[in-house]
Amino acid sequence: MRHSDPPPILAIIVPCYIEAPVLPATDKELSALLENLKSVGKVAECSYVVYVDDRSDDNTWEVICGLTGNHSKGIRLSRHSGHQVALMAGMEYALDSFDCCITIDADLQDDISVIPNMIDAYRRGADIVYGVRTNRMCDSRTKRITAAGFYSTMHKLGVECVSNHADFRLMSSRAVEDLLEYKERNLFLRGIVPLLGYDQEMVYYKRKERTAGITKYPLKKMLDFAADGITSFSVTPVRMLLWLGLAVTAIGLGIGIYTLVRHFMGETIEGWTSLMLSIWFCTGVLLIGLGIIGEYIGKIYIEVKQRPRYKISDKTESPK
Ligand code: UDP
Ligand code: MG
Repeated sequence: MRHSDPPPILAIIVPCYIEAPVLPATDKELSALLENLKSVGKVAECSYVVYVDDRSDDNTWEVICGLTGNHSKGIRLSRHSGHQVALMAGMEYALDSFDCCITIDADLQDDISVIPNMIDAYRRGADIVYGVRTNRMCDSRTKRITAAGFYSTMHKLGVECVSNHADFRLMSSRAVEDLLEYKERNLFLRGIVPLLGYDQEMVYYKRKERTAGITKYPLKKMLDFAADGITSFSVTPVRMLLWLGLAVTAIGLGIGIYTLVRHFMGETIEGWTSLMLSIWFCTGVLLIGLGIIGEYIGKIYIEVKQRPRYKISDKTESPK
């Protein structure tokens, strides 16, 4: 279905965690972009930006309240809830007053000049438009290697997930409505959004360096996020564990037969090495197994509690 006339109301949703140093420049760029899109009739006059303060420890909220762009609104979460939840909060908050929304990081590492192409794709009928990076040259070597490993693991595990797409994407209001029906607490939007269906398109861009502030995804947090992504979408690791267990049992049987043969041949004194190896190896396998199972049980535990994902504590006045 084409989303043609009139021009859509666009909401740009920006999660912000300790982003005070970049926000004024970001707001300037986004306001100029919106002004431009409005003047050429690509988006409706009442299009706007929503900044979601993920309860930063610095003065991000004060900066958001003082933003001069006349298209900007802000909400502040009652506690630090994480990037993915901040995105959901922004989309849910704005849902009643947009036709389509674009989520983008506060540091504008993602190229805003492709936003008009995203809107064109939306107007042609796409409900979801992914921003896909064509280069990762500005990422560190570790980040590039872990990212490549992550996407290939996701694909091997059968999880639909667009490679090199982070959370820079356009979604129509009906796609966001559907997304809000996914009630899980372990949010991994990159895995959920492809499940929504509809017409999906991609636009390509080069990712830039962060201009100020620091990344909120150091290696440890990134690996945690990747593990969450995998275990939220696939039970294959638990299944692999079963196969691993069977393989180890088979090896154990072989070793058992070998030991018995040696025993009946009267050569049983030696064996310290093999014993030690077996103990360590089996314990390792068992602990890995317990760890993987624990990861899933932990997720079930979090989901059954059905706690609210977030609460909004403050809002700037409606559009200034
Ligand atoms: N972010 C957030 N809550 C968090 C971590 C990050 O709202 O707990 C926001 C952050 O302000 C930024 C976006 O998520 O707008 C992506 O973070 P960042 O740019 O640090 O990640 P990177 O680009 O380094 O992967
Ligand atoms: Mg960034």
